Amino acid sequence: ARQFTRPLNDLANQWNTLLSAIAGAERVFEVLDEEEESGDEREAVTLERVKGEVAFEGVTFSYDEEDAGDTLEDITFKAKPGEMVALVGPTGAGKTTLIQLLSRFYDPDKGVITLDGRDITAITRDSLRSHMAFVLQDSFLFQGTIRENIRFGRLDATDAEVEEAAKLANAHSFIDRLADGYDKRLGVGGEGISQGQKQLLAIARAILADPSILVLDEATSSIDTVTEIKIQEGLQRLMQGRTSFVIAHRLNTIRQADKILVLREGRLIEQGDHDSLLRQGGFYSELYQGHFEDSETGQGR
Ligand code: ADP
Repeated sequence: ARQFTRPLNDLANQWNTLLSAIAGAERVFEVLDEEEESGDEREAVTLERVKGEVAFEGVTFSYDEEDAGDTLEDITFKAKPGEMVALVGPTGAGKTTLIQLLSRFYDPDKGVITLDGRDITAITRDSLRSHMAFVLQDSFLFQGTIRENIRFGRLDATDAEVEEAAKLANAHSFIDRLADGYDKRLGVGGEGISQGQKQLLAIARAILADPSILVLDEATSSIDTVTEIKIQEGLQRLMQGRTSFVIAHRLNTIRQADKILVLREGRLIEQGDHDSLLRQGGFYSELYQGHFEDSETGQGR
C-alpha cells in the first residue's frame, strides 16, 4: 500500500485525490460546489492516455437559461497536441467560462467539446481532470510542508521525484535556502512564502502531475523581476509537449502562442498567431496598439 504522511492522508480523505488541483480551481473560478455537478453519464469512460487534441465545435453556453444573451456563442476552434493557445479579450469576454467548459464544471448548451476526438461528456470527470493541471493566479496551497504541497500533484511520487519536479520548476533553489528546506511548513493558503514562490510551487506540482492539458491563468500582480524570470522559465518547461490554455495578460506570452483566440462578448471574433492577427488589422490589432503596449511600455514591435 502507498504510504502517505499524516496530513496528506487526511487531505486525501477529505477530497478526491484527482480533484485536488481542481479544489483550487473551483475556489478561484467560483464555480459550483461539487455536489451540484451532475453525475457522470452512464456510459462515461476512463481515458488512460491522452494526446491532447482539443476541439470546440459550435459551442454555445449561458449560465442562466433566462438570460437573453449567451455567455459563449458558437465557439469553434481546434488545438493540436502540444500547442499553446492564448485566450485574449476584455474582462467578461468569456475566457474563464471557456476553461470551465473544458474542465466540465459546466456543459455546453449546444455544440461539442472533444478531447482526442472524443466528446468530453463521454469521459468521466475524474479521468478528464486527471489529464489536466491548473496553474492559477492564486493556486491552491494548503497547510502542510512544501514537500506535501508539491506532492499533491501526484500523491505516490517519491521524495526524489518531488525534488526533480521542483528543480525543473526553478523552485528548488529557493526551497534549498530555507532553514527547513522541503520540510518547511506553510500556513493556510501557502502563508510563509512570497507570491512568486507560491507560483513556483504550483508549477512544480503541475510538472509532477504530468498532464497532457494545462491551464494557466497568468498573474497580473507584480512579482520581482528575478522571480518572474524563474517563473517564465519554469512555465516554458511545464508547457513543453502539453496542450496549454493560457489566460494571457502579457504581450510576451501572447506572442509565443501557436494560436491566439480573441474573445469579445462571448464570441470568438479572431483566431490565429500574433503576426497573422496583426495583419488582419482587426480587434486584436486594436488591443495590441492600445492595452498591450500600455501594459508593457517599450516592448512594442
Ligand atoms: P473573462 O474570463 O473573459 O473575464 P468570464 O468567462 O469570467 O469572462 O465571464 C463571461 C461572462 O459570464 C461575464 O458576463 C460574467 O459576468 C458571466 N459569468 C461568469 N461566471 C458566472 C457565473 N458563475 N454565473 C453567472 N454568470 C457568470
